[in-house]
Amino acid sequence: MKRIGLILVSLVGLLLVVAVVRTLTIAAPDIPSAAIDDQIDIDVLSVANRLGEAIRFETISTQTNREANRGPFVAFAKWMETTYPALHAVASREVIGGYSLFYTWPGSDPTLEPILLMSHMDVVPIAPGTEQTWEEAPFSGKVADGYIWGRGTIDTKASLVAILEGAEYLAARGYSPRRTVHFAFGHDEEVGGPLGNVKIAEMLKARGVRLHWVADEGGVIADGLVPGVNDRTVALVGVAEKGYVTLDLTAAAQGGHSSMPPSDTAIGRLARGIDRLQNTPFDGAVEGPVALMLDAIAPATPFVQRLALTNRWLFNPILTPTLLGSPTTAAMMRTTIAPTMIEAGVKENVLPASASAKVNLRIHPRDTVESIVAHVKAAIDDEMIEVTVFNPGREASVISPTTSEGFQIISRTIQDTFPGALIAPNLVVGGTDARHYEIVSDNIYRFIPIVLGPEDTARFHGDNERTSVEGMGQAVRYYVRLIERGSE
Ligand SMILES: [Zn+2]
Repeated sequence: MKRIGLILVSLVGLLLVVAVVRTLTIAAPDIPSAAIDDQIDIDVLSVANRLGEAIRFETISTQTNREANRGPFVAFAKWMETTYPALHAVASREVIGGYSLFYTWPGSDPTLEPILLMSHMDVVPIAPGTEQTWEEAPFSGKVADGYIWGRGTIDTKASLVAILEGAEYLAARGYSPRRTVHFAFGHDEEVGGPLGNVKIAEMLKARGVRLHWVADEGGVIADGLVPGVNDRTVALVGVAEKGYVTLDLTAAAQGGHSSMPPSDTAIGRLARGIDRLQNTPFDGAVEGPVALMLDAIAPATPFVQRLALTNRWLFNPILTPTLLGSPTTAAMMRTTIAPTMIEAGVKENVLPASASAKVNLRIHPRDTVESIVAHVKAAIDDEMIEVTVFNPGREASVISPTTSEGFQIISRTIQDTFPGALIAPNLVVGGTDARHYEIVSDNIYRFIPIVLGPEDTARFHGDNERTSVEGMGQAVRYYVRLIERGSE
């Protein structure tokens, strides 16, 4: 027995030595001293002012009454034409679905597959009653204190204007791409893109076009947003996005007067069903994009964190539950369950004959709408609760490779523009228009070159949305390089 104990102790000791050695040998490389920005000469204040102009077009997407809001989209498209004449001289533009814009800047070698850069033109509305909490009016586009203020300065007119500025910069200097460059600016991303990018992707498929790679919004340069990474920025490059589905749960029971209630009620039954569902979460694991992300950030984390992250073969039993304990990381590791609406009853002394709830689920790439419905039914385990799909939903996207030329070009461009940034592939938990292009490309990446800190995340779709003037300079330089490298 003593002998076995000794062997066990030395085995554990050996494992720890291996883990520590692995940990120590993968410390992050030093941060390069300077960016190579100097060759790209940008007048950042002019760029900022033009973003301000773009913000003033109230290109708001709403679920209803879409047609009523067409004026600003038409005016915005006209503004692009007059503001970026060199680009409009070399590229052709097609209007799709009424307002979405699709550009073609032809390359000299038509045998090469084109690339596509995307940014949507529409923005979300201002929540009623919050106008007063903005430091600058939400559609003022005011440039003050080193920032451009207004709805869309993060999501995502900053990247839209930076793409246009980058293309104009190159076109005005006589740059001529070898590979064709496309731009797609959708007008209805915030409502799912049915008339814009869905149609553009279908059009490309009908024309027999395959895209070499696609770049859209999704991740950003995270500054102080990734726990444990304090002296480096992290470029989150989305290689996939989650799917989405909402289910209706409906419980039936005997209605009637509430003075003599039966032992079982519709509300009680539904409540038990929801509770069982929430206590039966989907499987979550460190694999796919989240594993790639952890690999990328590990070298820059403190010793103990690095020890766990770089030796997941040993620490997974502790690491996985810890990561699942945080809503942010859990969302990247599994399909999430969120009961969002509940409805039953018309009067406080009448038992309702039915009670219903809506549960919104964000689908991890390992699950499907079908497997989710099966999981939910099994978890609720009650034939008196009907489970139906409320909206058609959408499956999670496919996972784009990190070995493609597109990913390499994007990574290199990030590193040149944001020295020292760690390139972390990740899973985008929200939706983007990029997914529509799966029918014409295998290489779809979701990243905009905007730096966000802890203080900025609430501004996204919230109040006081703003982006820094200096950051816009970086964003334009990023797209100049990306277009050049991508079209070489
Ligand atoms: Zn967006």
